[in-house]
Amino acid sequence: MRTTVGIIGAGPAGLLLARLLHNAGIDSVVLESRDRAYVEHRQRAGILEQGTVDVLRAAGAGARMDREGLRHDGIELRFAGRRHRVDFPALTGGRSVTVYAQTEVCKDLIARRLEEGGPLLFEAEALAVEDAESQRPRVRFRHAGRQDVLECAYVVGCDGFRGVTRGVFPTSSRVYERTYPYAWLGILADVAPSHDELVYARHDRGFALLSMRSPSVSRLYLQVAADTDADDWTDEAVWDELERRLETGDDWRLERGPVTQKSVTPMRSYVHEPMRHGRVLLAGDAAHIVPPTGAKGLNLAVGDVVTLARALVHERDTGSSELLETYSATCLRRVWQAERFSYDLTTLLHRDPADTPFDARLQLARLDRITSHRGAETDLAEAYTGFPLDA
Ligand SMILES: Cc1cc2nc3c(=O)[nH]c(=O)nc-3n(C[C@H](O)[C@H](O)[C@H](O)COP(=O)(O)OP(=O)(O)OC[C@H]3O[C@@H](n4cnc5c(N)ncnc54)[C@H](O)[C@@H]3O)c2cc1C
Repeated sequence: MRTTVGIIGAGPAGLLLARLLHNAGIDSVVLESRDRAYVEHRQRAGILEQGTVDVLRAAGAGARMDREGLRHDGIELRFAGRRHRVDFPALTGGRSVTVYAQTEVCKDLIARRLEEGGPLLFEAEALAVEDAESQRPRVRFRHAGRQDVLECAYVVGCDGFRGVTRGVFPTSSRVYERTYPYAWLGILADVAPSHDELVYARHDRGFALLSMRSPSVSRLYLQVAADTDADDWTDEAVWDELERRLETGDDWRLERGPVTQKSVTPMRSYVHEPMRHGRVLLAGDAAHIVPPTGAKGLNLAVGDVVTLARALVHERDTGSSELLETYSATCLRRVWQAERFSYDLTTLLHRDPADTPFDARLQLARLDRITSHRGAETDLAEAYTGFPLDA
């Protein structure tokens, strides 16, 4: 099998890259190890930055997002019994975010790809990437019980944190990593959100987040110990703890409803440098992970593939590989800003078991600064609504 761009992984990065290339007239084949139902129902991110919304719309994959997505103009910070709303448009010159689940983004992109007959092979597991430095890198993969080879002009590893593509990079590649001594216990519940915008709560008992997937489905998270088993928590215990950490001094109430899913997400920061080796490139979680506090993971994946599609089109149109040569540096600049912001927001709101009373007071001082100083609040609002995709 032959193609111009071999894409490993049908998460948001791989699916959107295939769409952008298709729109530009560049052929690709997408290999995905899981089946379609798994990819379409895997619960993950839910906040789309303004730039991501614009890209999906321009790519012809935004119609349902425009109908069903919820525009959010702010978030609420809760700490020390206080509530403070961060008003995004007022602080950023009109920017906002959209609540639209990653599952729905993937469903929309898969539907468009299959309608157009673009090759997207489910249950096709890439086993290895070979000959990265040659003109024809190859992917060995297994599909429908037999092994095959995909010959490409370029291979793009959109295969997430546990993918195989990083394996072809030389040992001189650098990895920067931090793991956190806590995790998120997340629930999905069939109940209308108790607040119309996301609520980020810093509490002495630990962090809590009230979020949503739709007007009738809530997504809520609790900071828990890193080794927590989701089954250790009854639904009632989760609601009780959410109530404690989200409590306010006024008459606000947390509505409870049937829990339909419960899972634990580890917290990790990770960057693999560089993101290109010969004719093999990395995009999305294959190259970098952020803790989910800043809602940056999916948006960074979008930023990478926009940069990459532009570079591939530039080479096709001009014969110059200059944008491919700078692909890694261009993306890493944005990636490190997202790493910084995600780290800052995480350490601002979570309780580290090693924290002293001094650290707790510092957190409150940082929150006080953000909520009382327009410059500090603007910095948060600009980062949350997103860094420019062309920077
Ligand atoms: C449990 C969890 C919860 C998250 N919650 C949030 C959140 O609340 N907010 C947020 O912003 N971000 C969140 N994220 C991060 C966000 O979902 C990711 O950043 C985003 O999915 C990145 O997209 P991607 O396409 O790069 O990778 P992925 O979505 O991981 O897609 C990679 C794809 O590659 C496939 N694949 C892997 N290996 C192979 C192989 N050998 N051959 C073929 N296919 C392969 C995988 O099956 C997968 O479909 C979460 C991540 C996880 C894991």
